[in-house]
Amino acid sequence: MSQNLQYPPRFYCVYLLRSIAKTNSFYIGSTPDPYRRLRQHNGELAAGGADRTKKNGFRPWQMTLVVYGFPSKISALQFEHAWHHAYQTRHIPDKKRIGTKSSSRSVHIKIANLKLLLSAQAFGRMGLRVAIFQKAIYDIWVMNRYNVAVAESVHLKLDFEESQQKLIEGGNYDQIKTFVKSLEKEEDDYFEKSLEELEQNEARECCVCHTVVDQFQDVLGFCASKDCHTLYHVQCWAEEMTKGLVSEPLSDSVLPLTPVKGKCVKCLKVNWWWPVVKNSMRLHRHFTEIGRSCIEN
Ligand SMILES: [Zn+2]
Ligand SMILES: [Zn+2]
Repeated sequence: MSQNLQYPPRFYCVYLLRSIAKTNSFYIGSTPDPYRRLRQHNGELAAGGADRTKKNGFRPWQMTLVVYGFPSKISALQFEHAWHHAYQTRHIPDKKRIGTKSSSRSVHIKIANLKLLLSAQAFGRMGLRVAIFQKAIYDIWVMNRYNVAVAESVHLKLDFEESQQKLIEGGNYDQIKTFVKSLEKEEDDYFEKSLEELEQNEARECCVCHTVVDQFQDVLGFCASKDCHTLYHVQCWAEEMTKGLVSEPLSDSVLPLTPVKGKCVKCLKVNWWWPVVKNSMRLHRHFTEIGRSCIEN
């Protein structure tokens, strides 16, 4: 099984730009590097930037909202496309659909559609997160004019700390930079903690099946809680988390159930599933590379 793993991108997001000059103008896009992308949209980098954001009088753009936590670039592109075409996407059932092609320019409808997509069958189990960088957008999110319930699994991260002067000069670069850095740090700390655990302790057991793990072969998951040292086979933990859950009646195929979140068997703290998987993929790649270089030498 281990040979065919698809490693996820370090980061990939779908974003909502809002023109600072013309606040009723928005742009939806996706990128692995939001800081660089925003500079492109604002014309600070010669190459790149979508034509629509180059038009006179719209720059600078602010990145007001970011959806992240996608397991692959493709899933982010699908989400971007669905949000862009919310008036006709198959990811929103007709009876829930809000707005038409022309009315979807309204920011209230944009946010309502975003909420619908976050709960859609294809995206709802990914454990996606949303970061909002503009208070006005957050107010619209809270106002919830179209009464769309947000999936309980959606994390919200808020940061409205950007000086007005900087915004006028162009974009919210500091916010975006800090945001990406803090995510990377979170992931790096988790990865380092996991590595240390594996290096310090010999003959570690999976907490569910109690067999001794082999980091060169198995896909391993650690509890993300700082003081907890519990280790699992990812598969064993997923089965443990989804025990007793019934697959949603929506799906006619009986797909194996992927958890969105679940408790650590030992410390009982809630672990979000996607960060666990992402970390275990990184561990797997790390040990696969070590294994490979041992064979080559
Ligand atoms: Zn196990
Ligand atoms: Zn734990």
